[in-house]
Amino acid sequence: MNIEFKPLIDFYEKGNNGNIQVKNLVNGEWTSTRETSKIISPLNGNQIFTVPETHLDETDPFAQGLKDTPQHGLHNPLRNVHRYKSLSQVFFNAAVYLDTEAGLKYFSFLVQMCMPKSYKQCEGEVIVTRQFLKNYGGDRGRFLAKGFTSPGDHDGQQPHGYRWPFGATVNIDPFNFPIEIPVLQTAGSLLTGNRPLVKVDSKVAIVMYEFIRLLIACGLDPHDLDFINCSGKTMGEFLVKNADHIEMCQFTGSTGVADFVTSTLQGRIRREDAGLDWKILGPDIPHKGMQKKITQQCDQDANAASGQKCSAQSLVFIHRNWLKTDIFEDLKFLANQRTLENLTVGPILTWTTKQLLDHIEKVLAIPGARLLFGGKELENHSIPKEYGAIRPTGIFIPYNQILKHPELVTTEVFAPVCIYTSYQDEYIDEMIEFINNIEHKLTAAIVSNEQDFIRRIASQTNNGTTYVGLRARTTGAPQNHWFGPKHALAAGIGTDEAILITWTCHREIISDKALVDEAYEFVDVT
Ligand code: NAD
Repeated sequence: MNIEFKPLIDFYEKGNNGNIQVKNLVNGEWTSTRETSKIISPLNGNQIFTVPETHLDETDPFAQGLKDTPQHGLHNPLRNVHRYKSLSQVFFNAAVYLDTEAGLKYFSFLVQMCMPKSYKQCEGEVIVTRQFLKNYGGDRGRFLAKGFTSPGDHDGQQPHGYRWPFGATVNIDPFNFPIEIPVLQTAGSLLTGNRPLVKVDSKVAIVMYEFIRLLIACGLDPHDLDFINCSGKTMGEFLVKNADHIEMCQFTGSTGVADFVTSTLQGRIRREDAGLDWKILGPDIPHKGMQKKITQQCDQDANAASGQKCSAQSLVFIHRNWLKTDIFEDLKFLANQRTLENLTVGPILTWTTKQLLDHIEKVLAIPGARLLFGGKELENHSIPKEYGAIRPTGIFIPYNQILKHPELVTTEVFAPVCIYTSYQDEYIDEMIEFINNIEHKLTAAIVSNEQDFIRRIASQTNNGTTYVGLRARTTGAPQNHWFGPKHALAAGIGTDEAILITWTCHREIISDKALVDEAYEFVDVT
């Protein structure tokens, strides 16, 4: 297969000189705007690319794209059905490209350039994306959209349930997974018949820009989606102005913005919002080797990608049996192994160092609080002032104080900051109540092999993505299971169910045929 895709950055040979210009895509054309913004490297402040700074008065062509999209979508189970297969073929081709060494390396490099995290984390994101595209290659688009039938009330009648597209949709994505989130959501939107207007965080826009170019090289009709680059403020104004023409918006990002979009679109939203993700270490203490693995998982959940995952572990309840182990020393050791050189710790893109240190200070002012490790700025760094640079931080808070400071200890800090506490058996019901009062219900982990303990906690809590067992973690978002929060407007990502719940609605068509020569009595039942 010959895929005519030429990466914009020749990173093997020349590196990046910062002159790459990201463009908007509208009505099948790549376009520029009056103004552009410079995007700098979060590691050293050097320019890495420029991005269109679309202003509201330049957004009419995007609004037209929404208006021109039929409510029945670009395809649906009754119309243009060939597109299920042709889009799956595009995804298959893109997966083939990501299966090459050059493809995998290029997109991992792009992710790392604008959202600096360890190479393994960047590559992992591209691999998940690749696997997702493989999953939806071949004939999967068609089978994904399968409906159901049931027998009617009389011969000749048959209800058919269809997964129906919304039509004109918007897809807004955050900075922290620059390829995985936008690609999985955009692909789900396209495959189910919608026409998405895609907006990603400008700080990482080059990744999706390159990916859309790749999709077009793989056979995507450039008219199938629009791509807008603008500030969050302008996007908000655009939503307000064009609310009547947006059938549904899938939003991934912070809860405050999600609330704004929800009210602007009067609930026509599926949201993947913020996480304050908890973990409970149960009463059963495994052998030393397993203890180390659990500790490694805690370190990874709290500190990988410098804590900038919606699924990052923020609050850990440790059964007091664990206090006899070396868990805190081990956590400290692992946190101290992390270095800026290999990006196992790196810049924080939405909190400054001062904001982070001020927050840590407030938490440490809670009576009985003690710093386990971290709590200070990274040394020898050139991270620009508008970003954060702190060492992975662990703070112990006595259990009774956790209950007294619910807001402070459950603030989502999008950085490697984790609070630990210990509990005993008598507190379990109270702990469950506390957990259920946390606003965000994204991920959670119950680390135990005791089935009664797991059932007691799992059956009374509500996080949309909950891992249980000795290998339980909070971070995930892979393509092998549903990932998303639990609430009435929740979106999901990764699986058939996630795509269908997020990107389709139900439509029922009841065929009711008069059979030849059949006499029937009209009965008015309602
Ligand atoms: P954010 O809400 O500030 O931004 C997300 C996107 O919304 C960006 O593209 C931004 O430009 C845009 N935006 C900002 N203001 C807007 C407005 N008024 N109208 C329309 N769009 C607007 O989030 P962030 O700080 O970039 O990302 C971190 C947050 O995202 C964290 O809270 C994290 O938990 C959450 N997140 C959740 C998931 C999930 O799956 N639940 C995944 C990743 C991140």
